[in-house]
Amino acid sequence: MRPAWAAINLPALQHNLRQLRQQARGARVLAILKANAYGHGLVRIGRELKAADALGVARLDEALQLRHAGVTQPIVLLEGFFEAAQIPVLAKEGIQPVIHQFQQLEQLEQSTLDQPLQVWLKVDTGMHRLGFEPVDVPAVRQRLVACSQVVGEPVLMSHFACADESGHWLNEQQQQIFQHLQDGWQGATSLANSAALLNNLQGPTDWVRPGVSLYGVSPLPDRTGADLGLQPVMSLRAGVISTRTIAAGEPVGYGGFWRAPERTRLAIVAIGYGDGYPRNAPAGTPVWINGQRYPLVGRVAMDMATVDLGIDSQVAIGDTAELWGEHLPVEEVACHLQTIPYELLCNVARRVVLDYSTGLA
Ligand SMILES: *Cc1c(COP(=O)(O)O)cnc(C)c1O
Repeated sequence: MRPAWAAINLPALQHNLRQLRQQARGARVLAILKANAYGHGLVRIGRELKAADALGVARLDEALQLRHAGVTQPIVLLEGFFEAAQIPVLAKEGIQPVIHQFQQLEQLEQSTLDQPLQVWLKVDTGMHRLGFEPVDVPAVRQRLVACSQVVGEPVLMSHFACADESGHWLNEQQQQIFQHLQDGWQGATSLANSAALLNNLQGPTDWVRPGVSLYGVSPLPDRTGADLGLQPVMSLRAGVISTRTIAAGEPVGYGGFWRAPERTRLAIVAIGYGDGYPRNAPAGTPVWINGQRYPLVGRVAMDMATVDLGIDSQVAIGDTAELWGEHLPVEEVACHLQTIPYELLCNVARRVVLDYSTGLA
């Protein structure tokens, strides 16, 4: 019997990469591996994605972990460097920063490097998080090209705010602004995350940047990864460590706020918020055991959660429960929890063992 583990299906990851590459129609794939590869294990996933054209992370530390693990592809630092002291490290390790504000530009101009850097230039087309104003882009490009710390042309990039809603007005605005800057751009360009790629919003660009879809999960509302031809990579599982029968009206768990409406059998599953399964999961959140879905009941504890099996169930100690994954889409579980699959995947805790033997012959 095992406590919580995450079965990671590497052939499914490869399938998703092929599927997304097809969808990208010739664009290169910058595979996004931030937040521990969306909970799937940064180094292992980085090593596995040899077929990706480049890897994207959010922190220098993540990029260095990949380099130290022997990953040789280009690595893009999606928010660039946070302080000037990081710039020589990028040059030494062949890491490509996104330059999104003037402070970074000035720090780059003032640095001295052994090797020049490939950089990405981020423009704010309407999300208003990171990026230069569109009107500043030609001058910023000029300064980057003139800067001896920079090699060649920067890659022009932007990011959608509402790509998961295909008809959203902001998409069109962002597309138009980007298209305008892209016309006559000398270097490569990149616009699409998973949702934009799957909704075909990106137009002709050189790079796509899928994250969540690589892991087989849909960023689109009302559609699962499977609906989009993707296969879930992570299945979060845990053993049933006890079962018991309780009478009608008996409470379950901390606070005793859930009470059995009738006599029923319970399974105690070895997973809790200490593993990253959310404490606020409401009664009725589905849990899959032996081919069937059962409702979660009572409050999720640090190490355990309780499932209502009903009086006739054959579920026994040692059986495996799936909290999300192959048999239970994480998209659906996220709906019950009023969050998005991204958050559930990223929050899988360190003590959860990542098991990469799943799906391998
Ligand atoms: C995280 C991120 C992505 C990937 O987003 P998904 O929705 O997971 O595909 C792409 N581009 C940038 C700049 C990001 O920060």
